[in-house]
Amino acid sequence: MKVKVLQNIMDANNQIASRNREALDKAGVLGINIMSSPGAGKTSLILQTIARLKDKVRIAVIEGDIASTIDADKISKVEIPVVQINTGGACHLDANMISNAMESLPLKKIDLLLIENVGNLVCPAEFKLGSHKQMMLLSTPEGDDKPYKYPLMFTEAEVIILNKIDLLPHLDFNAKAFEKAVKGLNHNVKIFPVSCKTG
Ligand code: MG
Ligand code: ZN
Repeated sequence: MKVKVLQNIMDANNQIASRNREALDKAGVLGINIMSSPGAGKTSLILQTIARLKDKVRIAVIEGDIASTIDADKISKVEIPVVQINTGGACHLDANMISNAMESLPLKKIDLLLIENVGNLVCPAEFKLGSHKQMMLLSTPEGDDKPYKYPLMFTEAEVIILNKIDLLPHLDFNAKAFEKAVKGLNHNVKIFPVSCKTG
């Protein structure tokens, strides 16, 4: 019985996700769902992306956090339309939250919608939002073994950002071992090594 209830929840979520995707397509918006553990650098990546693209691409951001508007305040300071979702305890975003947030954004005046998911390597990978691409960030202090521990996240991701590479000289992180672990789960995914701190 319990399994059936969960199935219904997932079906309902997927239906709303499909409607979100249709609304994005109709407005000509590319949606990217950005996932990682807390502190890996999602907000920093978004701010660096805005700094580099904001003259060429019209960007908006949806910030997902359990509580606070700390991240939305940072985005708002650089004058980008932003909606903060406070999940009030839920450890992931779902399609219904995104549907509500999209109503507060001028979709027709946006080219790129960056959705920062709640910091968590587990269930964000299970809930479709309607985004076109699923991106995940891993920061080097988290360790190169994370693909083995959180396989669904690394399987669902279509783009992987390896952040905080400026710290590599101080860590035991093995970039080759990380790439091998990722490719074992997700052969075609592309890994981009970056440092949001140094640019
Ligand atoms: Mg953040
Ligand atoms: Zn969750």
